[in-house]
Amino acid sequence: MRASDLLKPRPEGLYCPPGDFFIDPVRPVGRALITHGHSDHARSGHRSVLATQETLDIMGLRYGEDFAGTTQAAALGETLDINGVAVTFHPAGHVLGSAQICVEHGGMRIVASGDYKRQNDATCLPFEPIRCDVFITEATFGLPVFRHPPDHEEIARVLRSAAQFPERSHLIGAYALGKAQRVMRLLRDAGYDSPIYIHGALAKLSEYYQSQGIDLGQLEPATVESRGKADFAGAIVVGPPSAFADRWARRFPDPISCFASGWMRIRQRAKQGGVELPLIISDHADWDELIITIKETGAEEIWVTHGREEALVRWCELEGIAARPLHLVGYEDEGD
Ligand SMILES: [Zn+2]
Repeated sequence: MRASDLLKPRPEGLYCPPGDFFIDPVRPVGRALITHGHSDHARSGHRSVLATQETLDIMGLRYGEDFAGTTQAAALGETLDINGVAVTFHPAGHVLGSAQICVEHGGMRIVASGDYKRQNDATCLPFEPIRCDVFITEATFGLPVFRHPPDHEEIARVLRSAAQFPERSHLIGAYALGKAQRVMRLLRDAGYDSPIYIHGALAKLSEYYQSQGIDLGQLEPATVESRGKADFAGAIVVGPPSAFADRWARRFPDPISCFASGWMRIRQRAKQGGVELPLIISDHADWDELIITIKETGAEEIWVTHGREEALVRWCELEGIAARPLHLVGYEDEGD
């Protein structure tokens, strides 16, 4: 079987003709297999959804329990048969519940990795390289300039700043699913044991992470109405990036604005966003991780989905690996 007969790009997303299903479709479809809960990959309105239990739970929290007609939980490493196509979910190391989807039929094995990273992350299972004929990779940070430093070094910079300016508050912008909980967990691992104040938009997902055994320590609502401004002196507050342009952020005492994102590698971007303390913490593979992962899969062919496809395609070609961009639209990751 040819790879392009097993999976092919369609406007709705990647489609498997023999299995009659889509992976991470961006429009409502009959049967959707979903890699993870970020809103650009996990949309509501499909007739049926197959995903890990955590991803199904997260979709339920974000969209309400009726987000799909029917749902089925995929256990990691367990092969399911969909119209004669073998489908197996494997951990992707991106956010809680995130999975790569391995599709196998007629001697052809394709792995669609969704979003992934290789750095350690105590809030989700680590990425597992799967041998395959075709590996489908993202390329969010697919340029050699993107190299993510160790996350604990980035978190140590926040704690040093907090020690240096005990009268000021530190506001960390972090995406609501995955990044926020990872940042909190990193603070705990670095020995920070004061309460962490969180924006209301993070409450449900953070509670869910805690219910899954991911200890984030004591979290308190960052509601200024219920406290005096001075109570937040020295506090660390975590909120979604969108909240930082709000009046909400201006209520904290002399706040130092931090933002946890792979994009913080680009100084100009931090400056434009008014970020004083950029934290290069990403839930996506950096250039080196993309390269090592491609090699580990042993794939003879690489398909590149969203991000900066050109450089990665070029690198593959120079290495003698066939590669092509898929030009899928609709993936602007909310969790970079
Ligand atoms: Zn994602």
